[in-house]
Amino acid sequence: MAKKDYVVGLELEAYCTACKEDRSHTIETLKSDGNINRVNCHFCKDSHLFRRPKSEAALKALKKPRRKKGAIIVSEEEAKKAKKYAMTTVFAVGDFVNHKIFGAGKVVEVRANKMEVGFEDGPKLLACRHK
Ligand SMILES: [Zn+2]
Repeated sequence: MAKKDYVVGLELEAYCTACKEDRSHTIETLKSDGNINRVNCHFCKDSHLFRRPKSEAALKALKKPRRKKGAIIVSEEEAKKAKKYAMTTVFAVGDFVNHKIFGAGKVVEVRANKMEVGFEDGPKLLACRHK
């Protein structure tokens, strides 16, 4: 699920060890873990081990972070309604929480004295007061 979907034949930006530059490459082979093994340079047709591109933009395009399971993105509008998180505050499912470390999140489940809150970084279990 968290794996990047690299496939043989996919074009991507990589550092060419022959050209000594970032070039468009085609994936030739993948490693058993799904990461890129060998690539073929479109420019010099050289086949070599995959090297990450040197340019920042190309690197960013390569690393598309996947949303963690249970992650919740709170909109700006919703964040305004968020209650500041404190162990003494009573929260209900659907409430927006503002946590000083995790940021804005939304309560997805309230248990006896804990609640699960979805943050951008994934779900967290926070202590809360029981009604
Ligand atoms: Zn090349």
